[in-house]
Amino acid sequence: MLHKSVFLDIGALSCGCTDHALESLAKAISGEEGDAPDIWAQHESPFVRSLIELFSSRGLLRLEKVRDELNAWLEGKHHTPGTSTPAAPAPLNPARLDAHELALVKIYLENIPPAEFGAADWSLLIDYLVSRYMPFDALQTEAEWLAVRSVYMGKIQANVEKLPVVQADRLLAALPTTLPAARSTFDPPPVVQSVLDYGYARCADNVQAVTESTRHRLKRVIMAHEEQARLGARPPAQALQTQLFDEFATLNRDWRRIAVTEVGDNAGNGLIASLKPGTRVRRIEQYRGACPFCRKINGTVLTVVSPDKKDKDWDTEVWCGKSNIGRSGAKRKRVDDELVERTPAELWSIPAGTVHPHCRGIWTVLEEARPTDDPKFASWLDAHFAKHRKTPEALAQT
Ligand SMILES: [Zn+2]
Repeated sequence: MLHKSVFLDIGALSCGCTDHALESLAKAISGEEGDAPDIWAQHESPFVRSLIELFSSRGLLRLEKVRDELNAWLEGKHHTPGTSTPAAPAPLNPARLDAHELALVKIYLENIPPAEFGAADWSLLIDYLVSRYMPFDALQTEAEWLAVRSVYMGKIQANVEKLPVVQADRLLAALPTTLPAARSTFDPPPVVQSVLDYGYARCADNVQAVTESTRHRLKRVIMAHEEQARLGARPPAQALQTQLFDEFATLNRDWRRIAVTEVGDNAGNGLIASLKPGTRVRRIEQYRGACPFCRKINGTVLTVVSPDKKDKDWDTEVWCGKSNIGRSGAKRKRVDDELVERTPAELWSIPAGTVHPHCRGIWTVLEEARPTDDPKFASWLDAHFAKHRKTPEALAQT
C-alpha cells in the first residue's frame, strides 16, 4: 500500500480558518461532503428503510417538478400573450407566495415574451416555482411525519429486536403522522416527547434550508446565464442545462441526506430513550463507504444510562441526546502557529443517533430488550400484533 503525505500551507490562515479547513478535510474523508458513493443505497435497518425511501422519493418528485417546469419556461412554452400587460406583482414574501400571489405571478410571467425576461422576472419565476412545488406548509408536514415516525420506529426496535421489512412497513403505516396525534395516541414520557419535539424542529429546519438552497442555487445559475445573454455574449444553452443538471443533482443529494441522517438520529435516540438504564447495545456500522471513524467503532458495546446521570462516560455509555454537535472529526486544531492534538472531549464520540451527516450507524440490543415503562405505547404495540394474530417472534419467521 502506498502512503502519501500531502503538505498544506496554512501559515497565512487564521486559527479559525485553519480549523475550518481541517474540519472540511475530515468531513470530505467521512463522505459528509455529499459525494459518498452509496447515499442512494437502501438503508441497512429494516425498521427505517421504507421510511427513508418514501421521504426521499416524495422530495425528489417535488424537485423534479421544479426542474421540468423551469425547463418549460426556459423553452418559452408558457408564453401566452395577453391583450394587456399586467403590472409586475410585488409579493409580500417572495419566498412564500400564497395561492393568490401565485396566480398573479403566473399571469404576469406568461405575458412576457421569453426574450424580454429581465433579471427581476427570472428571480420571480424561481420564487414562483419553488413556492408552488415546495410550499412551506407542505414541507413542514413532511418534516413532521418523518420525525414522528422515525422516533417511533426506533421505539419499536427497542421492543421488537427483529422484524422483516414487510411487517415493519405495516407498523410504519399504522403509526401517527403528527405530534398532536402521537401525544394523544401514546401519551409519551417527557424524554420521548423531547426527542419528538427536537427531532421535528431539526427536520423542519433542514427541509427549510433545502428550499432556500433551491431558490438560491437556481437563481445564481439562471442569472449568470441570462446576464451573459443580455450582454450579447451568447452563452450556449447546453452550458445552462449542464449547470442546472448539477444543481439539481446536489439538491437531490441534500434531500436524501435529510432522510438518511434525520431518520438515523431520531430512530437512534428513540431506541435509546426506550431502553432501561443498564441495557447494553452494540453499535453496527456495516455499510459500503463507512468512514474510518465509523469503521473503527463498529461492534462497540455501550451501556445505556439516563441523560441526567452524573459523570457520564463518553467512551462506555450512551444516553438519549448524546450527540457530536460541537465536536470535531479532525484530530488536530490550530493554536497560534501550531497544530495541536484535540482532547478526547473535543472529538467525535459514539452518539445515540448518527455520527455525522450520511452516517448509517444503527444499534442492536444485546440482551433481552428491556424497554422503559411506556404503557400506552406498549399496549398499542400489543394490540397491533394481536390484530394480526401473531407474536413478534412468529412475525420474525414470516
Ligand atoms: Zn462515519
